[in-house]
Amino acid sequence: MAASRKRALIIGGSLAGLFAANLLRQQGWQISIFERTPGDLASRGAGIGTYRQLFDIMASLGIKDLEAKCIPLKRRLCFGLSGEVVHEVNQLHTMSAWATIYHALKELVPAHEYHSGKQLVTIEQADKHVTAIFSDGSRETADLLIGADGLRSTVRQHYAPLIEPVYAGYVAWRGMVDENDFSAQDHAQIFENYAFGFPEGEQFLAYPVLGRTNENIKGKRSYNFVWYRPASDHELKNLCTDEQGVCHGTAIAPPLIRKELTLGIKAAANKLLAPQLARIVNQVPQPFFQAINDLESQSLVFGRVTLIGDAAFIARPHVGGGITKAAIDAQTLAQALAAEPNNIDQALIAFEASALHFGKGVVERARGLGAYLEGQHKPFEARTPAQRSRDIRIVMQEQGAALTNESLQSSEAAH
Ligand SMILES: Cc1cc2nc3c(=O)[nH]c(=O)nc-3n(C[C@H](O)[C@H](O)[C@H](O)COP(=O)(O)OP(=O)(O)OC[C@H]3O[C@@H](n4cnc5c(N)ncnc54)[C@H](O)[C@@H]3O)c2cc1C
Repeated sequence: MAASRKRALIIGGSLAGLFAANLLRQQGWQISIFERTPGDLASRGAGIGTYRQLFDIMASLGIKDLEAKCIPLKRRLCFGLSGEVVHEVNQLHTMSAWATIYHALKELVPAHEYHSGKQLVTIEQADKHVTAIFSDGSRETADLLIGADGLRSTVRQHYAPLIEPVYAGYVAWRGMVDENDFSAQDHAQIFENYAFGFPEGEQFLAYPVLGRTNENIKGKRSYNFVWYRPASDHELKNLCTDEQGVCHGTAIAPPLIRKELTLGIKAAANKLLAPQLARIVNQVPQPFFQAINDLESQSLVFGRVTLIGDAAFIARPHVGGGITKAAIDAQTLAQALAAEPNNIDQALIAFEASALHFGKGVVERARGLGAYLEGQHKPFEARTPAQRSRDIRIVMQEQGAALTNESLQSSEAAH
């Protein structure tokens, strides 16, 4: 019997790959994950916003205690320049941690099916089979290959080389402060809330996350800030240039960020943010930044190869849905395969139609939420209506509130 089980090769052992592995195993598939990074990935993520669908998909895998390990945020506060609360929204948002989800999913995968330090270099297809070829020269053949290999996906580059991330014209400066480093006054005012600040042309937000031990224990948590700041292509190059004058492209490792830039972001915080928000930025020894990109695939299926997660679409972080989207992609694929147990090709057609529609919807919504920031490089009169408008009350409500405009409308209609 075991010999007739269908087999999937999953490239990328991060969250999209782990969701796919577990959901396909539930359907009786044999899976093998190949992750190029040796060792554990848990240290890479930070706090993440969640959606109901994420909890539901985790629960369908038997992981039912995720919600209990989260931090529920009930209030969103916007601070003016002198530190006063200028707007308040009561809206629940549940924060989890990347590592919590990663560990829970990874524990369900048989250790012998998770291959670390294996980098896919190319793919061959013949006769309804697909073969992955790795950098060590080894080969694996299966019925299906799932590209869950993220932003710079090797799988996507093989089949759709023209689809590339597109820089949105702004960066997110980020950093984390330990809960115990807050003064009693700042802690009481900010810590259990989502905090916002709106310098002209920019957006600052901050929220509590599980601490380094991933426990929701008072005193052991952290507070994470994300500060969106416009940066032209030229300015991004400058940000990514180290002390030796070497430009690292569009991303630079935090320890290589020039000291003058680190001092500059702290000075800007003192000038542009409420004092209690500026103190957060100033307490982070090494703030770092990420360029904000859009990535939109036009096809997700190439014979017996398919893309999911960040390899397929990347939405700007305003939606806060990268992980939930990865889970939904994997679930859509598993359900399509279950609906066509004897016809993988037909299942992939159904998956692609649904996942393309969903992915484009998430990217579109995130682009809309970031339009004001993107528009800062244009003269005001040349901006689109979305690029001109910023109602802070709406921005505060919409941050992480819905994955797509469609889902927002249907939830509004239901209320
Ligand atoms: C460093 C990092 C930090 C993140 N932090 C957060 C966060 O705090 N909050 C949040 O919501 N989202 C975060 N994300 C994004 C979030 O993790 C993703 O949206 C989500 O995990 C789904 O991504 P993914 O699994 O599709 O891709 P990724 O998480 O990017 O994983 C892709 C995996 O594929 C592997 N890979 C790439 N190429 C190959 C190859 N050729 N062969 C084999 N393996 C390969 C990579 O090593 C990587 O592990 C982070 C992503 C990264 C990479």
